[in-house]
Amino acid sequence: MQVKCVICDTVNTIEDYSLQAKRLRNRKINMYLCPNCDNRIKENTLKRHETGMFRLYEEKKKEDELI
Ligand SMILES: [Zn+2]
Repeated sequence: MQVKCVICDTVNTIEDYSLQAKRLRNRKINMYLCPNCDNRIKENTLKRHETGMFRLYEEKKKEDELI
């Protein structure tokens, strides 16, 4: 089946009977990411975990207390 990446609009063909195709058809996942974007998102997520995801949350909490 043909699938379109939601981020970069690349159209890819994936195996009709692959797990990913099955999930898309069953709407367990409703968007497709090409391998490039998929990797980029994974990297960004890891980076966020390493640097500041928790700090950001704390800063926001402090602001709320001031109000
Ligand atoms: Zn993409």
